[in-house]
This record gives sequence, C-alpha cells and structure tokens, in this order.
Amino acid sequence: MEYLPIFLDLRDAPCLVVGGGEVAARKVSLLLEAKARVTVVAPELCPTLAEQAAAGALSHRAGRFSPDQLGDVSLAIAATDDRDVNRQVSEEARRLRIPVNVVDDPEFCSFIMPAIVDRSPVVIAVSTGGASPVLARLMRARLESLVPATYGRLAALVDRFRDAVKAKLPPPARRPFWEKVLQGPIADMVFSGRQAEAEQALREEIEQGQPAQTGEVYLVGGGPGNPDLLTFRALKLMQQADVVLHDALVSPEVLNLVRRDAERVYVGKQRDFHTLRQQEINDLLVKLAKEGKRVLRLKGGDPFIFGRGGEEIETLAAQGVRFEVVPGITAASGVAAYAGIPLTHRDCAQSCVFVTGHLRDNTINLDWEGLVRPDQTIVIYMGLHGLDILCRELIAHGQSRLTPAAIVQQGTTSNQKVVTGTLEDLPRLAAEARLHPPTLIIVGEVVRLREKLAWFDKAG
Ligand code: SAH
Repeated sequence: MEYLPIFLDLRDAPCLVVGGGEVAARKVSLLLEAKARVTVVAPELCPTLAEQAAAGALSHRAGRFSPDQLGDVSLAIAATDDRDVNRQVSEEARRLRIPVNVVDDPEFCSFIMPAIVDRSPVVIAVSTGGASPVLARLMRARLESLVPATYGRLAALVDRFRDAVKAKLPPPARRPFWEKVLQGPIADMVFSGRQAEAEQALREEIEQGQPAQTGEVYLVGGGPGNPDLLTFRALKLMQQADVVLHDALVSPEVLNLVRRDAERVYVGKQRDFHTLRQQEINDLLVKLAKEGKRVLRLKGGDPFIFGRGGEEIETLAAQGVRFEVVPGITAASGVAAYAGIPLTHRDCAQSCVFVTGHLRDNTINLDWEGLVRPDQTIVIYMGLHGLDILCRELIAHGQSRLTPAAIVQQGTTSNQKVVTGTLEDLPRLAAEARLHPPTLIIVGEVVRLREKLAWFDKAG
C-alpha cells in the first residue's frame, strides 16, 4: 500500500474546489459535511451548487482557475471536465504542498477519497488505491447491507458511558465488559430501536461492575489450512482471545486472523520433536484460564478427529474450567473436496473410514480386515512416512493392488499437490514427487472420479 489512510479534521479549513458541475457538487457536499469552508471556482455553477452558494453555504468565484486562488487553502479538489485545467490545479497545488485530488485521475492526485459507509461516528472507508473506483463502490454496497444502520447509535451509546466504565472497572476488565455489551442483549436493544431500554440496562451493568471475568478455553478447529474454510464461530472466538496456543498444522493464513494483540504460544508437535508434551499443554491451558484469560486452543482440522482435543478438555473439565468446542472442517472432507474426490458415492463407496497411519516402532497397528471391505473408502491421516507399509498391508489383506489411491499434500491451500496412482505404485510416485507433511491418503474407487471432478488446481 502506498497510501496512508487517515481521517482529516477539516472543520473551518479553507478548501478550494475547481469546477462547477454535478461531480464537483458531490465533492463539495462531502466537504460541507466535514464543516470545511468551501470556495468553488467555476465560470458557472450547476443548480445544486448555485443553491448552496445562494444560501451562503459556500463562496463562489466566478471565472477560471488561477494559481493565486490556492493561497492559504488546506486542500484542493479539481473536478472540471478539462484535463488541462485539472492538471494545472494539481501541479500548482503540489508545488505549494497542498493536498490535491483530481476526480477520476489518480495520476494527478496526492490524496484519494475512499468510498465510505457512514454510520457516524463509525465510518468505514474502502479504497482500491485508485485502481478501480467501481470495485470500491461495489464493496461499499456490500458493506452497507452488512452493517446495521444503527451501528452509529451503538457507538454513540458507548461513547456516552466510557468515562463511567473507566471509573468503575480496572483496565483488564474493560475490554471484556465492552465486548459483552456490544455483542449481547444491550446491542440488540439498540439495533431494534429500544434506545432508552438499552441505556437503562447498560447503567445497571456498570453498577454491578462485572468482576474481572473468569477465564475460559475455546477449543477451536481451524480447518485444513485455507482460511475461507473457518467457521463464523471460530473467527469470532479467534478475534476475542487473549492468548492462543497453536500447533504446526495451523496455517499462517489462519493464524493471521487471530486478534493481533493476542499472545501466541507455539505448542506444536512434529514427528520426533515434541515442543511441549501433551500433559504440559493440558496444564498450560488450565493455568492460563485460571489467570482469567480467554484462551484459544487452535487446532488444525477438527479438534475431535485425531486432534487429542478430547484429552485437553478432560483436564479442563476435571479442573472446573469453562470451555467451548468449535468443530472444524477435518482434513478428510476439506482435502477430498478440493481434490475433486467425493468420499462416498452411490455406485462405488457406501462407507468411509478415517484411520491414522502413524508409525510406531516401524509398524502400523490397524484393523486391516476391517479396512479391506468392498465399496469402502479409506482415508489415512499421518500416513506419509508409513505409506509403503500401508499399501503393502492393504494388498496383503486382500485389497486389489490396482485400487485407485491418491495422496494430497497441503490440501485446500495454494500449495495443494495431488498425486494419484494405484495401491501398487503410489509409494513410488509419492517419493518421486518429494511430498512432505501434512499429507492425506485416500484409497478407493472414488479416487477415479477426480479425473472428471477436479476443479481446484487441476494441474495437481
Ligand atoms: N485434527 C486434524 C487432524 C490432525 S492429524 C483434522 O481434523 O484434520 C494431522 C494430519 O492431518 C496430517 O498428518 C495429515 O494427514 C492431515 N492433514 C491435516 N491438514 C491437511 C491438509 N491441509 N492436507 C493434507 N493433509 C492434512
């Protein structure tokens, strides 16, 4: 980004607008809303501007632009339909170091005006850096429909009570207090127009002075890596956490969405290298929550699928710490979807099993007979290092060596890599492709469907 988004206080500031048409009128109305002192230079004014001039809202200098008019102005806007005039305004203003905007001509601008969604005192500005005003306007339209019109009133309410809350609550308790107010019934009262009721309820809440809130743990599934696959609940909790404990599987893009000020603790477990042991993680969660913090335990995929989420909350339950579990899209469903491999299919897969292919002492302990069933898809987590053994054992237990199989690295992300083959040749193909974890293995007739259904990264 080459621009600094700032909100400028233009109260009583002299501003010059060159141009007298409807386009100029729109800029003038923004300046007037900001309480600027506006002078319009133009041979003639359109009806809107003429009316404002007659009412004394702006001064009109009839005639053409001349550089001396820039004298002591704080800001200039050129909105004529003559490109030479616009350029002259821009050059003169820049020479005098006066911020200047030329409508629809980013090249001549020293500042640009964003599209705004006005919920004063809440203002949302959208800018594309001049690249596409149309896109900015489309985004604005979406935001308009997303942000309730009453948001401004909610902000104004908070503003009126800020001092009272400051006087009553110590700093660590304030943010949670306001979060509760802004997301709870009081906000709903404002949104539904029950302003007086909202004020009364807020007064009572402040009176009760919420004690420093007791901590809790959010065990959240962060999905398979692509941040678009997070749930709303996950995102919401990610944005209100005080501290986050995450592991290797959580992608940087997902981690990026955690509240910026939250403390980050890496508790990743990688093969043969355990940064923190499971019991230590469990204990740390309890400790942090008991300090009153809102602790986000962020896991890849779904916390209850090969995620040891159950163990973590068992400790919490035993210690009486409040917790919430947010499911995530598990690797099997995310990866399968992005690889174009439906896990079940009426013609060839009536069941689907998820297993872990984790190697222990160079063997894999699985119920092979249970896996080798007709019309069953097998999804193997953590199977890369044991891929050889997995394929060999499945074949040894009766699975056809020609069964289609796929291995997908970093599925759902822009690094997704898919290798397909048969049970027999997949280990060789995977080795040639030099895959690295996380990878997911899918075995079964459904893998064949990828030929027709691959939609994401077809090159795979
Ligand atoms: N709780 C997680 C699984 C944790 S086990 C879930 O529900 O998805 C870690 C294994 O998940 C990895 O070894 C890999 O097999 C699989 N995995 C997770 N994300 C993946 C991804 N984006 N692509 C491929 N495999 C993935």
